[in-house]
Amino acid sequence: MIPAAFEYSRAASLDDALAKLRATNGAGKFIAGGHSLVPLMKLRLSEPKVLIDIARIPGLSGIRKQGDRIEIGAGTVHHEVATSALLRQACPIVSEAAAGIGDPQVRNRGTLGGSLAHADPAADYPAVMLALDADISLKAPNGVRTVKASDFFRGLFTVDLAADEIIVSVQFNPVKSAAYAKLYQRASHFAIVGVAAALGVSDGVIRSARIGLTGASSHATRLAEVEQALTGKPASKQTIEAAARVAGAKLEPVNSDIHASEEYRRAMIPVFTERALTRALERAS
Ligand SMILES: Cc1cc2nc3c(=O)[nH]c(=O)nc-3n(C[C@H](O)[C@H](O)[C@H](O)COP(=O)(O)OP(=O)(O)OC[C@H]3O[C@@H](n4cnc5c(N)ncnc54)[C@H](O)[C@@H]3O)c2cc1C
Repeated sequence: MIPAAFEYSRAASLDDALAKLRATNGAGKFIAGGHSLVPLMKLRLSEPKVLIDIARIPGLSGIRKQGDRIEIGAGTVHHEVATSALLRQACPIVSEAAAGIGDPQVRNRGTLGGSLAHADPAADYPAVMLALDADISLKAPNGVRTVKASDFFRGLFTVDLAADEIIVSVQFNPVKSAAYAKLYQRASHFAIVGVAAALGVSDGVIRSARIGLTGASSHATRLAEVEQALTGKPASKQTIEAAARVAGAKLEPVNSDIHASEEYRRAMIPVFTERALTRALERAS
C-alpha cells in the first residue's frame, strides 16, 4: 500500500501544466483530487515518475453561465457542484449526482475533470454528461478541441483524451426536467446501476429524451431503446413504465462482480430508469 517513489511539481497555469507534462516524456501524470489516482498508485497499478498537481490552477475550477449554456471547470470539486445555487436551480441533475458521490472527504477533493478522465465504469458524472449531451473541452500544446460526451467514453477506463491533453471544462444546455437515480455500493457509493434521464416536454408530450447509464457495463452508455420508446409519447406514468421496461434489454455484456451479479444488475436497470424518469417528469411540471 505504499506508492513507488515519484517527484511532485505544482502547475501554475494550463500552459505550465502541459509543458511540465511534456517534459516528463510520458512518465508524468496530472493529479487533481487524487481520489482515483492515489489508490491506483498505492496498489502499484500506476507508477508515474512525476505528479503534476493541477488542483490550484487559476480558472480551472468554477461554475459559470455562458449565454444559454453552463460551463463547469474541470478542477471543480464535487462539493461545489453539489451545492451550486446555479446548478440546483437550472439543472438539478448535476448537483444531485455530485451530492451522491462518495463521502464528504471525496466530495471536497475529487474533481469533475478527474472523474471524466479516469472513467471508472461505476462513476456518476459520465451518465449525467451523456444525458445532457455535454461538450468536453480539451487543451493540448497546439490548441483546444471539443468532444461530445457520447464520443468521449470509449471503453473500460478509456476515453478520447490524448497523452498530451488536459480536460479544461464541460459545457451543456441546462435541462430542468432531468434526474439521476442510482443503486449504490454501500461502502463507496459508486454506482451498481446509475441512470441519468433528461426529458424535453411540451404540451404534455415528450419531445426528446436522453438516457445515460453507468455502473452496468464497461463504460457509460446511452439507452437508445428507452429514448425511442419515450419520444413523441404522452408525458405520463404509463409511457414511463412502458419505456423503462425495455431498459438495458439489449445491453451486452453486463458487469458481474462482488457487488452485484449480471442478473441483479439487469433487473435493476429498469427499476432505476423508471425512478429517474419519474423524477425528471415531475421536474418538467
Ligand atoms: C472512497 C471513494 C469513494 C468514491 N465514490 C465515488 C462515487 O460514489 N461516485 C463517483 O463517481 N466517484 C466516486 N469516487 C471517485 C471520485 O469521484 C474521484 O474523485 C474521481 O473519480 C477522480 O477525481 P480526482 O480529481 O480525484 O482525480 P485524480 O485521482 O487526481 O486523477 C484521476 C485521473 O484523471 C487524470 N486527470 C485528473 N484531472 C484531469 C484533467 N483535468 N485533465 C486530464 N486528466 C486529468 C489524472 O491524471 C488521473 O489519471 C470515489 C473515490 C473514493 C476514494
